[in-house]
Amino acid sequence: MQANERDARFREIRDKVESEQRLSMEDGLFLYEPEVSIQQVGELANFVRERKNGNVGYYNINTHLNPTNVCVYRCRFCAFRKDLRDENGYAMSDEQILHRGAEATANGCTEMHIVGGLHHQRKYEWYRDIISMLKENYPKIHLKAWTAVEIDWFRFQTKKSFEWVLDDMRSAGLGSMPGGGAEIFHPEVRDQLCEHKANTPAWLEIHRTAHQIGLKTNCTMLYGHVEKAYHRIDHLMRLRELQDKTNGFQVFIPLAFHPDNTKLSDLKKPSGLMDLRTMAISRLMLDNIQHIKAYWIMLGIETAQTALAYGADDIDGTVRHELIYHDAGAKTPEFMSVDQIKDLIREAGRDPIERDTTYNRVIRDENDFTVWQSGESVDADAQLAGA
Ligand code: SF4
Repeated sequence: MQANERDARFREIRDKVESEQRLSMEDGLFLYEPEVSIQQVGELANFVRERKNGNVGYYNINTHLNPTNVCVYRCRFCAFRKDLRDENGYAMSDEQILHRGAEATANGCTEMHIVGGLHHQRKYEWYRDIISMLKENYPKIHLKAWTAVEIDWFRFQTKKSFEWVLDDMRSAGLGSMPGGGAEIFHPEVRDQLCEHKANTPAWLEIHRTAHQIGLKTNCTMLYGHVEKAYHRIDHLMRLRELQDKTNGFQVFIPLAFHPDNTKLSDLKKPSGLMDLRTMAISRLMLDNIQHIKAYWIMLGIETAQTALAYGADDIDGTVRHELIYHDAGAKTPEFMSVDQIKDLIREAGRDPIERDTTYNRVIRDENDFTVWQSGESVDADAQLAGA
């Protein structure tokens, strides 16, 4: 394509975005062409980001809990899983899990993010009891737990329906679901990465069911390995289609692949420019998902900060005890203090606002940081401000 044709094509896309028309597969593929300026794509995404979420950069105060790394599956991109008899395999005791809840409370966390492996010998009840035990002892902390892959495994274990599993987990204390396990939906890629675990129709059906019974969920895409631009845009469009029907996704998180210690360790990790382009295109394609997250653990602090001008409005949280991406070679710290995270957002020219898991403003006691309550929805704030 000649430069003048390219400019005309970009103007067409810009007109669509400015008049809130939906972008097509062809539009998304065009924006991935390396000749299309990353700055232009970023500026357009930033326009949408500010229209939807104003000048705010959201963060939360959270901790991770990975109850076991033993897993029946062997996804090729995974550096976290261990075999049943591996000396580095573990399954946490009740005491260890409760200790994590106590630590989270003492640090003022509003959320525990709970995901892990599918242990060969642990029954469904073990996973359910983790939720009920934490809820009973630390009722204020929101439990965002189990990816669709785990829910699919629980359905296999219990021989019940997705709805039964989700409902049972909710009565134990589950508050919402994270977005992991989506990887890349297109079978040309998914079959190369993780052909055994929950397939694309199952992943989408689990999230659809969660939304139908009133659970909010997040969604993700693991990019930068064997997939092509076509697979990424196809993935985003499948999420957009489900969101049109249910409106249950709160935030989309593009996850950059880390190759170290995986079966794909011969691949390079995606470049910073690829990270930013994917962030921006996600913001532009997903017109019906309110928030886009730059997960600093995976992207690195500098890229996450820059991403706040490329479509992202959220950088996740303080994050304690992250294991999954550090096992795969993430060089980021394992934790950031609240002051560090606020400074990082301010440096990027955004106003830091603490949110809870379901995007309500968090109000903290002036004298005791660990005492907090959830306020109004931040999305209502954004609408009032005309963002
Ligand atoms: S990604 Fe999840 S399901 Fe796949 S091997 Fe790793 S822990 Fe198991």
